[in-house]
Amino acid sequence: MPKTNDRRRATQPPTRIGYGFDSHEFRSGIPLKIGGIALAHAKGLGGHSDGDVLLHAITDALLGAVAAPDIGALFPPSDPKWKGADSVVFLREALKRVREAGYGVANLDASLILAAPKIGPHAAAIRVRLAQLLEVHADCVGLKAKTPEGLNLENAAVAHVVVLLERIPTKTRRKG
Ligand SMILES: [Zn+2]
Repeated sequence: MPKTNDRRRATQPPTRIGYGFDSHEFRSGIPLKIGGIALAHAKGLGGHSDGDVLLHAITDALLGAVAAPDIGALFPPSDPKWKGADSVVFLREALKRVREAGYGVANLDASLILAAPKIGPHAAAIRVRLAQLLEVHADCVGLKAKTPEGLNLENAAVAHVVVLLERIPTKTRRKG
C-alpha cells in the first residue's frame, strides 16, 4: 500500500489504459466523416455533432484513461452548440486533459465495424490523420475495419478503441 505522503505516485502510475466505444446510424444525404477524414459515400453518420464515430470512441478512450468525465458529459448532445460540430474539437479537449494529468499517448488501437464504405482504401489516410491529431507516429496507430457479420448492423457504424498513455517525466513536460 502507498504511504499517505506518496499520493503523487499512487495517482500517477507510469502507464494508464483507456477504452472507448461509440456507434452511429447511417442517414442519407449527409456527409460521412470517419477518423477526421471525409469519405465519399451516399450516407453519413447522424446524431451528435458531425457523427465521427471513430473520433468519438478515441475521445472517450482518452478521457477514460485519465478518469475524466465522458464525451456526453463534456459535450452534451442536447446542447445546440455541438450540433454539426467538428469532432476534432472533442478530441483536442480530451488530449488537453491527458496532458494536464501528466500523460502522453503511447499507442492506440481501433476497430471499426461497418458494412460500407470499404475502409481499406482510406485506412492509411485515417491513420496519418489520427497520428497528427494525437501527436504520435503513424506506427503507433492501429486501425482494423470489419464488416458486421451476423450482427444485423448493416445501417450502423461502430468503433472500439483502446489507448495506452505514458507518464511524461516532469522535467520534459510541455508548458501550457
Ligand atoms: Zn458519437
